[in-house]
Amino acid sequence: MFGEELYKIKAVILGHAVADALGVPVEFCSREELDENPVETMEGDGTYPYPAGAWSDDTSMTLCALDVLAEGELDWTEIMLNFARWLTDGKYSSVDVCFDVGRTCKDAIINCIVNEIPAVESGGISERSNGNGSLMRILPFILYTEFVDCDEEPMDIIHKASAMTHAHERSKVGCGIYSFIIRRLLKSQNVESVFEGLRDAEEYYRNFTQFSHYKRLLDPDFKNLDRSEIKSSGYVVDTLEAAVWCLLNTDSYRECVLKAVNLGEDTDTVAAVAGGLAGALYGYDAIPSEWLETLMKREFIEDMCERAHCQWFM
Ligand SMILES: [Mg+2]
Repeated sequence: MFGEELYKIKAVILGHAVADALGVPVEFCSREELDENPVETMEGDGTYPYPAGAWSDDTSMTLCALDVLAEGELDWTEIMLNFARWLTDGKYSSVDVCFDVGRTCKDAIINCIVNEIPAVESGGISERSNGNGSLMRILPFILYTEFVDCDEEPMDIIHKASAMTHAHERSKVGCGIYSFIIRRLLKSQNVESVFEGLRDAEEYYRNFTQFSHYKRLLDPDFKNLDRSEIKSSGYVVDTLEAAVWCLLNTDSYRECVLKAVNLGEDTDTVAAVAGGLAGALYGYDAIPSEWLETLMKREFIEDMCERAHCQWFM
C-alpha cells in the first residue's frame, strides 16, 4: 500500500500516538486500580476531560520535532519554537490546548525562549532531571538519523535531541538505547532485533558511567522478571525497562500496548514508548484499525509522516 519506508515511519509514529491515547484516560491510576478495571480499548474522559483518542504531550512534542525534520533540516531552534507554540498556544495538541507538560520540559522551553539559551543546551542537567520527557519524544530523531544522511554522528544528534529538555547523561543514554533497538527493528522485524539493539548499545556505551543504570535490560533473564519487579513510573530507566519488558512478553501490537497501559502510573508515556517499539516490530497494519479511526487528528499526523517520507526519500 505504501512505500516500505513510509510504512515504517507511520508504524512507529502512529504506533506511539495510538498507545499514548490509550494511556491518557488512566494516567496516574495505580496498577491495583487497573488490575480491577483494565483498559481494553480507546476510552474517553478519566484523568482528563477529553474524548477517546486524545493524545498528550508525548505525541505533541514528537510532532513538534517531526514537523521540522520533515522539511529535511535539523533546525534545533525551530523545534524548540514549536515546543513553545505547543506550550502557549496548543499548537500540535490533539485538543488545541497544552493540558500536560512535565516540569523539566517546561523549564527547558523557558530557558531557551525567555533566557535565550541555545536550544541544545536548555535541558535540565541535574540527576533529578531524569524523567522520561526526552525518551517520549525521541522517535522523529531516530527516524531522521536512520533515513537521512547527516553531517553529524547519529548518536550525537540523539544525545543533543535529548539535551533540549533532558541533558543529564542518564536521559541521553536512555534515548540512545531506545534508538539502537528501534534502528534494528526497522531493519529486521523480529524480536531478535531487540537483543541486537541492546548489544549495539552495550558496545557503544562501554565507557559511559550512566549506562550501568540500564544493566537489567542486558540480563538474559530480563524478560522473565515478574511484573511486580517492573516499575512504570515517570523515571526514564523505569519507563524504558517497562516498555521493553512489555514488548518481550507479548506477541502483538495490541497486547503490548495494553500490557503497558495496565502497568499503571505513567500509563501514556510507558505505552507510547512501548508503542513505538511495537509499531516497529509488528508494522502499521498491526495497529488495530478501530484505534486508528478513533485517534484524534489522525490525518494531521499521517500527513506529516507522508511529508517526511517525501522529503527524505524523493
Ligand atoms: Mg503524556
